[in-house]
Amino acid sequence: MNPTEQAERHGANNYHPLPVVITRAERVWVWDDNGNKYLDMLSSYSALNQGHRHPRILAAAREQLERVTLTSRAFHNDQLGPFLARLSEVSGFSRALLMNSGAEAVETGLKACRKWGYTVKGVPEGKARIVVAENNFHGRTISIVSYSTEPQYREGFGPFTPGFDIVPFGDAAAIEAAITPDTVAVHLESIQGEAGVVLPPDGYLRDVRAICDRHNVLLFLDEIQTGLGRTGKMWAFEHEGIRPDCLTVAKALGGGVYPVSAFCADDEVMNVFQPGDHGSTFGGNPMAAAVGKAALDVLIDEGLPARAAELGSYFKARLTALNSPHVREVRGRGLLIGVELHTSSGAARPYCERLSKLGVLCKDTHGQVIRFAPPLVIERDEIDFALEQVAKVLT
Ligand SMILES: *Cc1c(COP(=O)(O)O)cnc(C)c1O
Repeated sequence: MNPTEQAERHGANNYHPLPVVITRAERVWVWDDNGNKYLDMLSSYSALNQGHRHPRILAAAREQLERVTLTSRAFHNDQLGPFLARLSEVSGFSRALLMNSGAEAVETGLKACRKWGYTVKGVPEGKARIVVAENNFHGRTISIVSYSTEPQYREGFGPFTPGFDIVPFGDAAAIEAAITPDTVAVHLESIQGEAGVVLPPDGYLRDVRAICDRHNVLLFLDEIQTGLGRTGKMWAFEHEGIRPDCLTVAKALGGGVYPVSAFCADDEVMNVFQPGDHGSTFGGNPMAAAVGKAALDVLIDEGLPARAAELGSYFKARLTALNSPHVREVRGRGLLIGVELHTSSGAARPYCERLSKLGVLCKDTHGQVIRFAPPLVIERDEIDFALEQVAKVLT
């Protein structure tokens, strides 16, 4: 059996990958088992903002491999402190709680908001409620899919976790109407990535910030996909000049090398956690900390957020200028771009399959949208290469 047959025979069927077997990668390029070369325009859903196998991140990983990789949090390690200090500078939050996957960081945030509600706000025990948005994506645990509105993510997985109120995304008045005295948090993506790169109206996050202040409710933003430079600023919420109370970060925090995630907050929220309340065997291990610190250093030293802003506007303008009869809308911010196709043009997947044959890897999301989210280290001529192939498929 070849590797694909083995994966199909012995794995679970929870993914439907494009028929490309990747064996090697560097920066924005990947190679398959036949030596064909592809431009990676998905970058593992924004987990590869620094590109594949960035030399500085690999060097940090190698160095750490030679020293110590895992201690558990039963003991201190010498990498955790420097990483947390760097993350605090980059996030603007005084503290972070480290986990591994994005979903775990979100779960951590839900726990923090609820406990803050009981111990600080004074919500009666067991009554805390969290306002969330329709078409959200925050991960795949049972509590997180409890407030998903995507039937496929929920069907067959109940019973679900109670305590969530779902309102339309982009409608601040709906959030205010959903808030009750028991509401502890409003929990949103700054831009909905999985929903098809859906940007809220200008001013939305500012209005939500004001509503949260008015009602003593935490604003908990999930920037697992939009953070770390993707949208042209370090954090997508900066486009609105606001700051949330809680933030989840993952994906590119591991620099494409190692899973690293974090829940960030200031003292008032983070101090709800006492020893033994919450934890993770691998969360904050020295390997993760060394890699995570290098991943942040690369983003800053190479000015990747500004690069995403500049190349993203170029890419978006050129995609719009294709004037494709199949395209309903080109939208996005920085290097997170969605191309929504007309329903009459069919689903996005066959377009992605054709693009893969032309050497460009991307992924459909929500049926009608092709998402382009290349590593932020991409060069302009590489974007031009992608545009040439996209033009062949879309015009
Ligand atoms: C990917 C993602 C998650 C989940 O991260 P995992 O590491 O897959 O658990 C959560 N929120 C957003 C916005 C994401 O894009």
